[in-house]
Amino acid sequence: MMSTHDTVIVGGGVTGLVAAWRLAEAGQDVVVLEARERVGGRLRSEEHDGSLFEIGGQWVSPDQDALVGLLDELGLETYPRFREGESLYVAGDGAVRRFTGEDLPVGPDTAAAIERLTKTLDDLTAEIDPDRPWDHPEAERLDHMTFQQWLEEECDDVEARDNIALFIGPAMLTKPAWSFSALQALLMAASAGSFLHLVDADFILDRRVEGGLASVAHELTRRLGDRVRLSQDVTAVEYDDEGATVVVKHERLRARRVIVAVPPPLVRRIRFTPELPAEHRHAREHQSFGLVIKVQAEYPTPFWREEGLSGTGFGPYQVVHEVYDNTPAGSTVGHLVGFVSDEAADRLGTLGVEERREQVLASLTAYFGDAARSPTTYVESDWQHQELTGGAYGTSFDVGGLTRYGRVLRQPVGPIEFGTSDVSGLGFQHVDGAVRVGTELAQRVLTPGAAS
Ligand SMILES: Cc1cc2nc3c(=O)[nH]c(=O)nc-3n(C[C@H](O)[C@H](O)[C@H](O)COP(=O)(O)OP(=O)(O)OC[C@H]3O[C@@H](n4cnc5c(N)ncnc54)[C@H](O)[C@@H]3O)c2cc1C
Repeated sequence: MMSTHDTVIVGGGVTGLVAAWRLAEAGQDVVVLEARERVGGRLRSEEHDGSLFEIGGQWVSPDQDALVGLLDELGLETYPRFREGESLYVAGDGAVRRFTGEDLPVGPDTAAAIERLTKTLDDLTAEIDPDRPWDHPEAERLDHMTFQQWLEEECDDVEARDNIALFIGPAMLTKPAWSFSALQALLMAASAGSFLHLVDADFILDRRVEGGLASVAHELTRRLGDRVRLSQDVTAVEYDDEGATVVVKHERLRARRVIVAVPPPLVRRIRFTPELPAEHRHAREHQSFGLVIKVQAEYPTPFWREEGLSGTGFGPYQVVHEVYDNTPAGSTVGHLVGFVSDEAADRLGTLGVEERREQVLASLTAYFGDAARSPTTYVESDWQHQELTGGAYGTSFDVGGLTRYGRVLRQPVGPIEFGTSDVSGLGFQHVDGAVRVGTELAQRVLTPGAAS
């Protein structure tokens, strides 16, 4: 069976859906082919015991103006994350200290070292164009050293280094600081406007969307109607100068343009004829998913609030390295959300479900005491087990990959455009980036010959 369209979009995450909606608004005949039985990709909500849990992306920050604009356009409401009260810091010896603001309660020398590192990182970040980090005069040097090496060159204080590493390694790229470059770390910070923004939970994790951030995908899908087709795992794309034929099951869809809106490592699941240029394959082989297990626990009440705690906690030596109050708006129960990242996630991933749950709850107990040990509901995100994602939150380059291959990821091949939040400058690895990339890809389809 063969049908013809203006543009076929592979992938029904936010990138693909935004691109489709912009093209549909411009009068194009578009089709979105989504492999899963649902839209949203890395956005997904689930109900457990009567409460909504966001399994993927959930927070919105004020600088994310592409996403904020789309939320307005779609009529979706937001509410602030609960943050009243003191935060907790669990030190290497297990001591729990309360604090307010962004300054961690560490010794004076470590505090001074953190301040110095933060300033150096912020100054460097200000020099980075998130769309072209490889253009920085020091790009190659910074891309050839790991972030850990950079930190060791800059600072002797181990606790200061571990905390700074946490904000970019475990908390953002979800990889150990020895596995990605200093330039990749700076891109992460530049994509959020500054390194200080990553440190400031009140900024980067500012608001949530009523009904969950996945509502963005659902509302776009409602507007797109039967242009969105589920359970359509695209296996092949044949292309020439005139257009492309997308193959899914026994159907062939012909279009003048195709947008492949799937994460870079998953492009390899699709067979292209002719084959993609070698540098495209190499580039995507050097960009891999990080790994974080998002864990959520529901309690009869947000008991920490009664103790004057905000629910926010950091523990660079804890299994759960960061934790927040995640109680949905208007709810009387209490939710905590925490993250188990990179090497800790590798370790926990080898355990059985019960043992993993025990270790996670023991870590939450290290922050909040015994009351945290017995939630009424416990939910773990499972992205690493899903072939159509493969990790969380997103993908980043290995050492040296950004300068060697970064440019390639956004280049079209003949009639085919590629992109997800993983190739965004601003909003890199975030839904804001997906909105930006989806918008840009639609513009490029509508403006043939537009520069990449
Ligand atoms: C646990 C977690 C927490 C996060 N937290 C936040 C947060 O708080 N705030 C934030 O802004 N971002 C967050 N993110 C990141 C954010 O969710 C992603 O950056 C964003 O959703 C990516 O959207 P995308 O459309 O670019 O890619 P995806 O969402 O990955 O969409 C790609 C789509 O392509 C489909 N697909 C793949 N291969 C094929 C094929 N061959 N044929 C057809 N379809 C295919 C997939 O099924 C998927 O639906 C988080 C992510 C995770 C996993």
